[in-house]
Amino acid sequence: MAGADTVARPAEELPPELDDPLFHQALGQLDGVVERAGVSAGLAEVLRFPERALAVAVPVELDDASMAVFPGYRVQHSSVLGPTKGGIRFDPEVTLGECAALAMWMSWKCALLRLPYGGAKGGVRCNPRSLSDGERERLTRRFTAELLPVIGPQRDIPAPDMATDEQTMAWMMDTYSMQVGHAVPGIVTGKPLSVGGSVLRPEATGIGVVMVVEEAVRRLGWTLSDLSVVVQGCGKVGGVACRELAERGARVVGVSDIGGGVHAPDGLDVVALDGWRREQGAVAGFPGADDVTNAELLELPCDVLVLAATEEQLTGENADRVRARLVAEGANGPTTLAADEILAERGIPILPDILTNAGGVAVSYFEWVQDIQRLFWDAAEIRTRLGELMRGALDRVWRLAEAEELPLRRAALVLSIREVAAALRARGIHP
Ligand code: NAD
Repeated sequence: MAGADTVARPAEELPPELDDPLFHQALGQLDGVVERAGVSAGLAEVLRFPERALAVAVPVELDDASMAVFPGYRVQHSSVLGPTKGGIRFDPEVTLGECAALAMWMSWKCALLRLPYGGAKGGVRCNPRSLSDGERERLTRRFTAELLPVIGPQRDIPAPDMATDEQTMAWMMDTYSMQVGHAVPGIVTGKPLSVGGSVLRPEATGIGVVMVVEEAVRRLGWTLSDLSVVVQGCGKVGGVACRELAERGARVVGVSDIGGGVHAPDGLDVVALDGWRREQGAVAGFPGADDVTNAELLELPCDVLVLAATEEQLTGENADRVRARLVAEGANGPTTLAADEILAERGIPILPDILTNAGGVAVSYFEWVQDIQRLFWDAAEIRTRLGELMRGALDRVWRLAEAEELPLRRAALVLSIREVAAALRARGIHP
């Protein structure tokens, strides 16, 4: 490929819309492994930028008949391995740069698991807690309509993420299907079973997190049932992770949500805590546990700290106060570059997001395959296939990390980037 070694643009000259802390974090990770991955500077330059980004305005008539307009985004990082895949979040902090970072991580995650997908991510900047069900439905349908030119079951397949769920996906699927005139279940994953969803998809990310933690702990010579765990975030990922960890005998000593956390050194009854959270709307105040702030929760003594809330939680400011012996990233991008370095210096391994939370996209892939074939698998089959994918990826990462004395994140990134770069090299650049 002529010119593959020519860097077209210096690193610091990012387009302003990509000048976002999370995108810098993703770029810093990529830049840190390009040489080790054996990727030419020219190919690396291609991988640094999303292929396509769409910014839309989403007008919604609110329940009081007033009109609100919300900014929305969809970013597709790389389609070199197949259709792009990634979640849709409703969050007040969503930016195009944040979506670009998350889309890049989706590319690495899919490549690491050897799924035939590239990465994408999208979202609407809104406060989901202030919207009624009707407003959320109108927002979802209008946003989907705005995305029609760039999504499709062979093109870009959305999924749930922060504050979006099965219902959101059903509305997206219906909006798309009404446009094309027939049901297209493969347009989104994470749908309800009644419209072509997959068993185990809602639990898949949390189950995958625990599969990775269990296998990593075994390789470290520890036993999960002897360990104490703190889980930040108890939504779709953290809530399931808590339950699965407790079922495997781990002592869950701390759990939080956006309003704060609870701590019980002898262990929390996670089933009762889940019931309390559903009843009260928050974990705080759970009888028999002490309330803690989210900042305090991250610094509680424990063996394993599972980050399952949001990005940039461990930073240069708090990483030296982390008292866990192992960190597992259920969330995307919860550890900044500065925190990565501090934890590495302190000898605290991090199970990186692109490996640890990949169970969600793995079962999304199973859902898409089932939708296309119109042939559905049972939970046992999906759990077995998920376990094979997660443990296979962990094994590849672990072996490279040991062979080349790399932190696990760098090993995971090297493997992923090599996969994407190999496909890009083989296909070449369409002039
Ligand atoms: P969710 O909305 O279901 O749950 C998020 C949880 O984190 C809630 O308990 C919320 O109260 C809490 N939270 C949010 N902001 C917080 C903050 N600043 N401090 C403490 N707690 C906070 O979302 P989810 O789907 O569980 O996603 C959580 C993370 O996992 C995100 O980073 C997401 O991108 C990532 N992820 C999700 C999936 C999936 O399948 N849902 C897959 C891969 C990665």
